[in-house]
Amino acid sequence: MGLRLFNTLHRQVEEFVPFDPEARSVGMYCCGPTVYDFGHIGNFRTFLFSDLVRRYLVFRGYKVRAVMNITDVEDKIIKRVRESGQSLAEFTGRYTQAFLEDLAILGALVPDDLPRATAFIPHIIELIRRLEERGIAYRAADGSVYFSIDKYRGCGCRYGQLVNLDPEAQRRTERVTGDEYDKENAADFALWKARVPEDGDVAWDSPWGPGRPGWHIECSAMSMALLGPSFDLHLGGEDLAFPHHEDEIAQSEGSALQAPGRPFVKHWLHAAHLLVDGKKMAKSLGNFFTVRDLTARGYLGREIRFLLLSAHYRETFNFTQEGLEGARSALGRIDSLLERLTELAAGGVPDGISKLPAAITEALDEDLNVSKAWAAVFDWTRDINAALATGRLTPSAAASELAGWERADSVLGLGRKPSEAVPAEVLQMVEARTAAKKAKDFARADALRDELKSKGWTVEDTKNGPKPKRL
Ligand SMILES: [Zn+2]
Repeated sequence: MGLRLFNTLHRQVEEFVPFDPEARSVGMYCCGPTVYDFGHIGNFRTFLFSDLVRRYLVFRGYKVRAVMNITDVEDKIIKRVRESGQSLAEFTGRYTQAFLEDLAILGALVPDDLPRATAFIPHIIELIRRLEERGIAYRAADGSVYFSIDKYRGCGCRYGQLVNLDPEAQRRTERVTGDEYDKENAADFALWKARVPEDGDVAWDSPWGPGRPGWHIECSAMSMALLGPSFDLHLGGEDLAFPHHEDEIAQSEGSALQAPGRPFVKHWLHAAHLLVDGKKMAKSLGNFFTVRDLTARGYLGREIRFLLLSAHYRETFNFTQEGLEGARSALGRIDSLLERLTELAAGGVPDGISKLPAAITEALDEDLNVSKAWAAVFDWTRDINAALATGRLTPSAAASELAGWERADSVLGLGRKPSEAVPAEVLQMVEARTAAKKAKDFARADALRDELKSKGWTVEDTKNGPKPKRL
C-alpha cells in the first residue's frame, strides 16, 4: 500500500499518484503568507502541515519541488505601506525576513522556491492577456480586468469544483468593495485592479493601464510558471478553498495551457482551522499569538512545532497553554531517551532495524495520520526505556534505535534538544565534588551536591565521567 491522501477535489481519500509516477517527482505548491505583519500560529499550522507533507514525500522516496509564494502586494499591504511611509519593498522585505526566521525557529525546511508576486508581474499580465484573448476576461471602464464566470462556463469548464455550496450565492454575501462596481456579474472577480490614488507608487504598467494584480491570479501565474500548467499537489488552509483556490482553478484551467484531459492540480489538500482556548483567534480576545509571542514566553520552536503537528490536519485544533506544557513534557521524554541511547551507543555499530520508521510509515500512509504516528513514537519510547531498564539493550542495538529515530525525525523535524550551557561555577563545583569523592571526603562531596541542588543542578555519573544536569 502506498500513500493515501484526502483530495478536496473528489472529497475522498485517494491513493497519491503523481503525474509522473516513474520519475517519482512531485511538484507541490502551498499558498504562503501575506507579508503585512508577523504570521500567527494559525498560519503556521498550515505551513508546518506543508512541511510535514514535503518531508514525508521525501521519506517515501519522492523528489519534491516545494513552492511557497509570498504575497507582497494586496489591499492590506498597500494600506500599511501608506501608513508606514516606507516603500513597498522595504515594508514587505521586513516581514518576509521575519517569516523565514519563524519557519527556521519551527524547524521547517525552506521551500525550494519562494516566489514573490511583485517579481512575477510579466507572467501575471501574460496570463490575464491569454484569458482576455479567450474571451473569459473583460475590461471594465476604469481599466480593471475581471474574470467572467459565465464565459468560463460557456467554454465547458466547471466553476465550483472544490466547494459543494453554490459559489455564486456565497460570493454575493461577500462585501463588494467600492472599486469593484464595474463587474458584469456579482460572481466575477478582479484579475487586474486599476490604480487608484490611495495606491500611491504601488502600480505597474499593463496593456490595461497602470494597476496591480488581484490576489488570486498571482498564485495561478506563479505556480504554473514554476511547476508547469499541471502539477501534483496544492495545499493551503481550508479558508482558502473558496474563493481563492476555486478562482485559481478557474484562471488556470481557463487559460487552457494544460495538456488535454489534465487538470491544473491533481490533489488538493486543505488544513483545518486552529482555535485558541476554544475560540477563533482575535487580538480583541487576547488569544492571538505569533510565534514570537510564544518564544518570548520561553517556549522552544520545537515545542510549538510538536503541538501544531499533534492533531490530524483535517481536524480543527484547539491550541492551549496546557497543550504547550504537554508538548514540553512529551519532548522531555523523547529527549531523555535519546540521551541515554546516545550514551549507550557510543562505539556501537548499528546491527539491526528499528521498528520505528515502519510504524511511522504505516501511520502517515493513512492520510497523514499524525496522531497515530505520535502514538508509535511513544510506544517506541516506552519499549526502549523498558529494554534499557533491564539492561537488555546492547550498544549496537542502541545505535540501531538511534538510526531509526533519525529516520523518523527526518519527517517529524523535532531535532535534538538544544544543548544547555553549563555555568562555569557549576562546572567548578562538579569538579570539586569529583575530587572530594576521590579523596574519600564524602562529607565535602555531599555538601557540594546539596549546594548544586540549591542552584538547580545535579550530577549524573556516566561512563564518560560525571555530568552536570539540570534538575
Ligand atoms: Zn494562493
